Amino acid sequence: MPQLSDKLNRLSPSATLVMSQKSSEMKAQGIDVINLSVGEPDFNTPEAIKECAKQAINDNYSRYSPVPGYPSLRKAICEKLLRENHLTYSVQEIQVSNGAKQCVCNAVMALVNDGDEVIIPAPYWVSYPQMAKLAGGIPVIVPTGFEQNFKMTPAQLEAAITPRTRMLILCSPSNPTGSVYTYDELKALAEVVLRHEDLYVLADEIYEHINYTGRHESIAQFEGMRERTIVVNGVSKAYAMTGWRIGFMAAPEWIVKGCNKLQGQYTSGACSVSQKAAEAAYTLPQDCVEEMRLAFERRRDLIVSLTKEVPGLEVNVPQGAFYLFPKCSSFFGKRFGNRTINNSTDLALYLLEEAHVATVAGDAFGDPECFRMSYATSDDNIREAIKRIAEALGKLEE
Ligand code: PMP
Repeated sequence: MPQLSDKLNRLSPSATLVMSQKSSEMKAQGIDVINLSVGEPDFNTPEAIKECAKQAINDNYSRYSPVPGYPSLRKAICEKLLRENHLTYSVQEIQVSNGAKQCVCNAVMALVNDGDEVIIPAPYWVSYPQMAKLAGGIPVIVPTGFEQNFKMTPAQLEAAITPRTRMLILCSPSNPTGSVYTYDELKALAEVVLRHEDLYVLADEIYEHINYTGRHESIAQFEGMRERTIVVNGVSKAYAMTGWRIGFMAAPEWIVKGCNKLQGQYTSGACSVSQKAAEAAYTLPQDCVEEMRLAFERRRDLIVSLTKEVPGLEVNVPQGAFYLFPKCSSFFGKRFGNRTINNSTDLALYLLEEAHVATVAGDAFGDPECFRMSYATSDDNIREAIKRIAEALGKLEE
């Protein structure tokens, strides 16, 4: 039998992509499916950014770019980090990649050795454990859960650290929960990290601008942490630019150099036109970011208030990103006809087939008691989806 490599066989396919594929198949059959499974803004890229990209094409930005990204874009990123995050980085400490996703992967590949442990608080973004495994590392999952607002405590972090721990992956605002670590919470985690040599934090801040607390906090800001942190961010979520594929990391130069070596052999510099579009995103007036953030906040309020009314679901109030992660375990063991709901995967499939609403089971994110709904969609879709979900859940019996 032909066999793929062991490395590939260790990987699982992306569960979020599986669910949106299923819902697309149903749509193609003419079924009216509301898709709450996707992880991207429903807005178009702002016109001014698109215009700069068109100009870049006309100006012949058509050749290979430097592996770490155009210096002008990296300079714009340094200015953004200083302006918005009060973090000082030089151009040599920035790498631009094909989306934040590649930045996370580069950093994991650059730092994790075979058998090294990577601490990942659950619920987590689906790709983190897979990337850790790809690098030969061992994902160490720290369950948080609904009751602690899905946030890891310093005591949990301390307990998870061993002499083999190399990295902690922290995502705030979080996909899938929308939880946001406060200044004090990050400071307390940083204190634990600094007690351990050779422990690095990958701070995934891709949802920085979709934040309802009024302020984004980076763990890199605390004394001593800049040398221990790889800040990952990008234009996908804040500027509705998921398809342009531009993300960046800001990290100590030796780490960025290592990532440049990797990227140079693997993908080369990111798409030239997209880099010019990203440069525009970081340098043009930022009104579009606040407009989209406000729309997400309004939808957050809508979906939270509607979901709270659904008997059997428990909801926390997400402070960022565009996901709701309700607890659905009260339905486990219940039935509709000859179908039994044993876990969140059964529930998500039931909701897709019975309510025609696509969500993603919490199992994929390391929390089997919950499921994820994206509210990056219209108010009408949100209203109709929650109505359908309530009806379908109402049919489940002991
Ligand atoms: N991190 C998290 C937590 C995400 O949700 C996503 C996108 N789903 C990414 C990183 C990747 O973003 P990008 O489009 O920049 O690769």
